[in-house]
Amino acid sequence: MPTKKDRHVELVRQWVAERDKREKYQWQQLWHLKNEPATWVDATASKAHNKVFAAIDCKRCANCCYKIGPAFRPYEINDFAQSLGLTTDSLIEQYLKWDPTESIYEARSKPCPFLGKDQLCTVYEHRPESCRQYPHTDSSDFANSRYMHANNSAVCPAVYHVIEELIEARKNKKAEEKFERMLLKLHEYEKEIGLASDNSLSSEPSPPPVS
Ligand code: SF4
Ligand code: SF4
Repeated sequence: MPTKKDRHVELVRQWVAERDKREKYQWQQLWHLKNEPATWVDATASKAHNKVFAAIDCKRCANCCYKIGPAFRPYEINDFAQSLGLTTDSLIEQYLKWDPTESIYEARSKPCPFLGKDQLCTVYEHRPESCRQYPHTDSSDFANSRYMHANNSAVCPAVYHVIEELIEARKNKKAEEKFERMLLKLHEYEKEIGLASDNSLSSEPSPPPVS
């Protein structure tokens, strides 16, 4: 029986081996999701998120801390500075720079300066919302954020696998819909030749005649 660590290692291995080859395909498949009801996409993504994060262990990864880093909204930095025993000005001077396009403070350097040597976040209790919410695969708005997820798939193994789960779920959904259409066609044909009635698809079989 594989342990959680084994499953984590295997999922990360698959991501490293496949992400570049699958990138274009994932983008295409996420684009096709526009044809599916957003409620189905969001619910399926949420299930996929739970399944993937039951195996992926962020404490063994930290790739987002290496490649993206934190984004602080202006209202977050005073408390964050206090938690480090710094003034807001010295926090900014030492660690952060302002990004006027996104209206956020981001780290001056990568990997994130608050990532410890043991690959764990040294400010975990005080980390900003952006770190708490990443990779957003459990947000209720997956359908409208598909292209953000397509981008994040290159950085985060969990996102890659959530998208793969969604692709598989959509394939199964399409196969079921095709099967239902086939049944319906067959039923129409049976009606035409007098072998079925309008309600015979849904009705219970008739009981045998009492002799
Ligand atoms: S603040 Fe912590 S969680 Fe956020 S990027 Fe830095 S190390 Fe990672
Ligand atoms: S959110 Fe993704 S990239 Fe970040 S640590 Fe977890 S699995 Fe790794």
